[in-house]
Amino acid sequence: MKSKFIFSSFLIISVILTYGQDKILMEASNSIKIDELKEKMYTYSSDEFDGRGTPSKGQQLAVEYLVNHYKNLGIQSVKTDTYLQAVPLQFEEKPNISLNISGQKFIYYQDYVSYLNGPDREYKSEEIVFIGYGIDDPNYSDYKNINVKGKVVVAFGGEPKDKNGEYFINGKNKSKWSILRQEIDNKKRVARSNDALAIIIIDNYLHSRYSGRYKNSDIGYSEKRMTLSNNKENNFHVLLFPEKFKNFLTKENLAFDMSFEKNIEKFSADNVAAIIEGSEFPDEYVVLTAHLDHVLPRNGKIYNGADDNGSGTVAMLEIAESFALAKKIGKEPKRSIVFLHVTAEERGLLGSKYYTDYEPLVPIKQTIANLNMDMMGRADPERGIRNLNYVYIIGSDVLSDDLHDINIDANKYSNLELDFRFNGIDHPDQFYYRSDHFHFIKNNIPAIFYFSGVHQDYHEPTDTAEKILYEPYKKRVKLIFHTAWELANRDERIKLK
Ligand SMILES: [Zn+2]
Repeated sequence: MKSKFIFSSFLIISVILTYGQDKILMEASNSIKIDELKEKMYTYSSDEFDGRGTPSKGQQLAVEYLVNHYKNLGIQSVKTDTYLQAVPLQFEEKPNISLNISGQKFIYYQDYVSYLNGPDREYKSEEIVFIGYGIDDPNYSDYKNINVKGKVVVAFGGEPKDKNGEYFINGKNKSKWSILRQEIDNKKRVARSNDALAIIIIDNYLHSRYSGRYKNSDIGYSEKRMTLSNNKENNFHVLLFPEKFKNFLTKENLAFDMSFEKNIEKFSADNVAAIIEGSEFPDEYVVLTAHLDHVLPRNGKIYNGADDNGSGTVAMLEIAESFALAKKIGKEPKRSIVFLHVTAEERGLLGSKYYTDYEPLVPIKQTIANLNMDMMGRADPERGIRNLNYVYIIGSDVLSDDLHDINIDANKYSNLELDFRFNGIDHPDQFYYRSDHFHFIKNNIPAIFYFSGVHQDYHEPTDTAEKILYEPYKKRVKLIFHTAWELANRDERIKLK
């Protein structure tokens, strides 16, 4: 009898506890309200912040606004003494570069473009070595028994397939040796670690992508591009050539002579990072991201960037409020939650790249998931005027089935149509590569990119606060909140595939 009595009172207590926990969850969830989202949105995309371009006074004001939000909520900074993570950046002008390969001169932009640069000087090599795809992987290497020290290596873009049309390295899937935004960095790293002088990659797509982009810099700085300015990023030359030079560049006995000089202007801009520490697994982290920047004024017009990315930013602020409220009324998350606002996304995902590749503020291996919010407050005209209660989900199943399933289950609180049309890494619109979650996925961290699509006001001065569709937007914010809640509070860390 006694043991039964103990058992039943235990049951009653745990029912009360569970009920209390659910109540706290629902109270936190219900605190996500349209009027609060609106108020923040009108502030964050106001003319005062001047479009939040990188770098600008307006962006600094936006950063201050974010910092004050966390301070007011009593959410601490990730770094001990500051909410700011300074990201070292630079403007690079078009380089003064002359390139001569065995008597043939090459014209910048038209014939080739430099993607990453080493120091200013003359680069001479008596030998250019064709090296296949420039890959060095446990399953496949182009560097076996080849000495490239002091030589320029030439590699094809992409990666090799076997006679069945499958990739040597990952079978049906592309590997880090050909995935956009990973390929060049990886091929550069291997060439550099083999003491090559420089690498040439022959690929029509990469050449046209970057020569076009650098030539007509899209954010009002003609021929000025922005890059990270830390030494590890800029320590080696990567030149991109179109395939019309394939026959020439793979000939034997070619000599390379390049003189290179560039003007740079260094500066820094800030990421903002706050944390609610976990009560049971404080050293496991769910990292939420949204880019804080947009673009500089052009032709006297301010680009308010309400959807891009006031929507992701404000979503995160509101979610932070919900977690802070839950903590206050008795429920801390079991795992730590990091609120990371990143800079310079519009100039090439630079703030997030600096964070993941050079200075993670919490360990990458202990980062269990990333939820990224970017442009999630409007509707995609491509979908027509049917159901606005939808959200595009990108990347959720790439690394973890758990993450995918948790997100779907969390949708019971929002009942959105989860639209996976852009989920594929080979989708021609490339959304998988187009926001900050990509640098997390690249580092083997399961991630979801929440997105509502591009529209006529995308990167126009007309992307303003009154055009946000607040009802579906609120439901999307709740979906992210509940997904983060489950990731942080479930007993087991989510598993990788
Ligand atoms: Zn954006």
